[in-house]
Amino acid sequence: MTNHLWPAEDLEAVGHCPVCKSVDRSVEHDDLVDRIFFAAPGIWTMWRCDDCHSGYLDPRPTSQSIGRAYSAYYTHSPTSAAALLPPAGIMSKLKRAAMNDFLNRKFGYNLRPALPLGLGYLVFSSIKKKARNAAAMFRHLSAPEYGDHLLDIGCGNGTFLLLARDRLGHDVEGTEFDDAAAANAFQHGLKVHRAPLPGMGLPPNYYANVTMSHVLEHLHDPISALSEIFDILKPGGRVWIQVPNLDGASHQYFGSDCRLLEPPRHLVMFTLQSLTDSLKAAGFIKIEPLASENFANLMFNAGWMISQRIDPHVVPQPTIPAAILSAGNEAQIAYSGVSNQSEFLTIIAFKPK
Ligand SMILES: [Zn+2]
Repeated sequence: MTNHLWPAEDLEAVGHCPVCKSVDRSVEHDDLVDRIFFAAPGIWTMWRCDDCHSGYLDPRPTSQSIGRAYSAYYTHSPTSAAALLPPAGIMSKLKRAAMNDFLNRKFGYNLRPALPLGLGYLVFSSIKKKARNAAAMFRHLSAPEYGDHLLDIGCGNGTFLLLARDRLGHDVEGTEFDDAAAANAFQHGLKVHRAPLPGMGLPPNYYANVTMSHVLEHLHDPISALSEIFDILKPGGRVWIQVPNLDGASHQYFGSDCRLLEPPRHLVMFTLQSLTDSLKAAGFIKIEPLASENFANLMFNAGWMISQRIDPHVVPQPTIPAAILSAGNEAQIAYSGVSNQSEFLTIIAFKPK
């Protein structure tokens, strides 16, 4: 389908899979429209690579023009410090102390106050969902060793950097290309590089941890980005990545109305296999998919609203049909562990020592 609305001089042809370079492909969707932030005019075509099964837009906005698609993006909201506030009330204090004990025992921290005798760890470990969500919220980060540095690529308004710095004691930096989002992060005294990826210009063999939440799918060249991350990690360093999953249950259910696709901001969509293979090709070892919160309920609700041409951010949310709620619940339960049909893929990998 021809793209009538994004100016032609701001479009680029891709021609081959940005993940594995194969030219063999099939049309996955030819009718994608930005029905999520309504910031990007145009009708987009997503291709699916016949070889690695990643999805990608072709044509797509050039890197010079893509910023326009972010004019109403959610990282423009102020940095959220809710998780940093001192807990108020006895129940909140107990919950915080339980979580601290869990993080101390699972990831080697020494957070205080913590419930004694491993009670917090016991509570969290006995409720699978609680343990999974707490670990994922802190991106499965182990306690820092002296001199360790953490880099969050695409840190947005810096919410995670604040959590890693002020709750966990990491030495943190971020990168962000969006002016409004970076301005929010600066306000909290965070060090934020205004650097594109690839081409960040950061020191090689330096970072103990690199995290990247919902960023890789936005990049024009995600494979060069992974190589650059490999270079800036110190030997033994770890990358943590989360991306939307092209094989997620909500994509299978809603097709081109799926919330995960987010045209044209998501340029490349990975599967568990294609992300694993890409990390391997970049030199990473000990590649391990991890369970995180599976947002199938939310993604099914959003997919239904998009299919009805309702703004998925509308408040209050309209009544969702029972069939959608139950399909969302089913997917939530079925794919909440490590799964190639979870809504998001969460994965860690290491640079060899
Ligand atoms: Zn491919």
